[in-house]
Amino acid sequence: MLDSHGRVIRDLRLSVTDRCNFRCTYCMEPDERFLPKRSLLSLHDYLQIVDVCIGLGVRKLRLTGGEPTLYGDLDALIERVGQRQLDDIALTTNGWSLDADRAATWRAAGLNRITFSLDTLREDRMAAITRSTTSVETVLSSIETARQAGFPRPKVNVVMQRGVNDDEAIDFAQLARERDLDVRFIEFMPLDSGRHWDRDIVVTAAETRSAIEAALPLQPVDALHDAQTSVNMAFADVAPGRIGFIAPVSAPFCGACNRLRVTAEGMVRPCLFSRREWNLRPMLGDAASLAAFLQDVTWTKQAGHGIGSEAFEQPERGMRAIGG
Ligand code: SAM
Ligand code: SF4
Repeated sequence: MLDSHGRVIRDLRLSVTDRCNFRCTYCMEPDERFLPKRSLLSLHDYLQIVDVCIGLGVRKLRLTGGEPTLYGDLDALIERVGQRQLDDIALTTNGWSLDADRAATWRAAGLNRITFSLDTLREDRMAAITRSTTSVETVLSSIETARQAGFPRPKVNVVMQRGVNDDEAIDFAQLARERDLDVRFIEFMPLDSGRHWDRDIVVTAAETRSAIEAALPLQPVDALHDAQTSVNMAFADVAPGRIGFIAPVSAPFCGACNRLRVTAEGMVRPCLFSRREWNLRPMLGDAASLAAFLQDVTWTKQAGHGIGSEAFEQPERGMRAIGG
């Protein structure tokens, strides 16, 4: 699948539910309504989309949401996609619950990686940021469960917001060292459904990096490859753990983007920031039509997100309803 800017799509981000049990302030509002269940795609639909995408050259799959662990057929989906010709299958979760048996089953079925989202290590802040009752300790315990189930170094996504958690960069770096984690700092993007995003709240990757390096020097671990979104660093004193910086706002990587997104109700979004989206449901059941449709939609993928340009408009959907 090729777009009109010469980018080849290799990475499918599939949202398996629009539901979430958190209400993270940078993502969704407390009073948002979910779609009726009958509007969401079925396991059979998801498998069809994955198969057609594989036929079109997709090699990486990320299952996301909403909170993907709330999707009733997640285990069956992982089992089935694990049998497909994919180089990498990953899942993103808020870590509210991860049972050891379930994690081991996923690993055995072919899930390669689990990414956790955790924005604070301070219990007194957790409820304010996530507007949930899940504790930091619970998420840390889910991370350990993943490791014990045989997942490689778990990734932890941290969305930095000025005045909220930007004083925790070093604490997260220490956590990465102590627990051999891959902690990735993500810049806050204008994808919050409450539309509170403001450039002043964005903590740039450069700021976070210099805060960490003042105490814990870092060194690059690998050369950037084409579609890499994260700048990955190791500790200069060769302590365990990795630190990643994802800078979509201060240093956009749109030119290297190889992703296509499908929402839980079957809307295709070539870009996180697409203002237009396309309904694939009429094509379900006809693989050839679905393939032609996805190729057509991909061709329209916009050159870049345009944050900061005068013409920029935040998309209707927030991250929870897109699938991050
Ligand atoms: N619920 C799962 C979770 O939180 O990991 C998966 C879905 S969530 C939408 C996927 C990722 O998007 C999370 O790592 C979250 O931190 C990130 N995210 C959500 N809103 C964001 C925003 N406005 N800017 C940057 N990242 C955001
Ligand atoms: Fe938070 Fe993920 Fe739910 Fe958004 S989808 S509110 S980031 S847990």
